[in-house]
Amino acid sequence: MDLMEYQGKELFRTHGVPTTPRGEVATSVDEARQLAAGFGVPVMVKAQVLTGGRGKAGGVKFCRDAEAAAQAAGDILGLDIKGHVTDTVLVEPASDIAEEYYLSILHDRLSKGYKVIASVEGGVEIEEVNRTAPEKVVKVDLDPTAAFTPADARRIAEAAQFPEETLDHVAELLAKLHAGFVASDATLFEINPLIKTADGRVIALDSKVSIDDAALFRHPDLAELRQTGGGHPLEVAAKEKGLQYVKLDGSIGIMGNGAGLVMSTLDVVNQAGGRPANFLDAGGGASAESMAEGIAFVLDDPDVEVMLVNIFGGITRCDDVARGVLAAIDQLGGLAKHLVVRLDGTNADEGRRLLDEAGLDGLQPAAKMNEAAEMAVARSRDA
Ligand code: GDP
Ligand code: MG
Repeated sequence: MDLMEYQGKELFRTHGVPTTPRGEVATSVDEARQLAAGFGVPVMVKAQVLTGGRGKAGGVKFCRDAEAAAQAAGDILGLDIKGHVTDTVLVEPASDIAEEYYLSILHDRLSKGYKVIASVEGGVEIEEVNRTAPEKVVKVDLDPTAAFTPADARRIAEAAQFPEETLDHVAELLAKLHAGFVASDATLFEINPLIKTADGRVIALDSKVSIDDAALFRHPDLAELRQTGGGHPLEVAAKEKGLQYVKLDGSIGIMGNGAGLVMSTLDVVNQAGGRPANFLDAGGGASAESMAEGIAFVLDDPDVEVMLVNIFGGITRCDDVARGVLAAIDQLGGLAKHLVVRLDGTNADEGRRLLDEAGLDGLQPAAKMNEAAEMAVARSRDA
């Protein structure tokens, strides 16, 4: 479960992690004006949506007074940010930023532990910094069963070359962030940017928080924050069609048969350096029709550049699946995007032969999951 920025910062505060001054949320222009007037200082008006890059999309605005805040709320309420329509804004006293850093702690599947990522280059996407200046991104694996001491936190701050005068602040904040992360059963606590204010404090300006759904029963207060209704428009459309679909923010469309297989596919695509655009489980008994429906649905998503279909045939026969895939392409009037189809299990050789023989541009059969993921990533912007 993901939290909105204001909920994440509230959670940080309960664990003693310093943040921007507490703001209030508004769902109308008038409410935003009143909140800003009540603060009596310049405020930020910030879209509360479960996606990043709000600043770039015009969803974060500095407002000198209440009238400006009303105007900003008018612009931001209703704003579509990567498919998320804004219905709530956070109004909070603006901070005076001297520097922007990056700090996060997350579950790392590869090391089966926690990972801390720290960088003095914050405010922009960390993937971008990682690409252009990898030496500025420090990653430290933590053993989840071991204690994390203030000295450990300080070593990380030093390794990331935080400025001397911020080291104590960053270390103290990181120690609290870690404790809060563990206590909340979180899978991600990300602060981007972590800022140094003009008066030398180090505080969280933004938050991205994910809580492990399987642990929500231990956190009824957090479970209550779960966003009801709405969701991404594609998720709403999928629900109407009875598809098991979750929208994600990458560019590689995914479909497989069986939730476990689809989740593994997401992992393998991530490991190959790609970013999945969605989760779609075609179900155990994936028929030719359900294949066709799923493929058409995923390819229709404008975020999808390439699609990966991953089928393990048991009762479902791969030759049937191959016919379904070809029928789907036929119905679509051809392939406008690259499609990798991995077939394994019952009649897989026959299935791949059918796909090969179709000789269609952009249709690529594969036998192995890793190889299929690499083929798909090579065709995406992540390559
Ligand atoms: P994101 O774009 O969704 O990650 O939203 P952020 O909360 O990270 O805000 C984006 C950018 O807006 C930050 O990197 C800052 O540069 C700017 N910003 C946000 N809040 C403040 C603030 O209180 N004061 C100032 N001066 N800038 C802010
Ligand atoms: Mg941010």
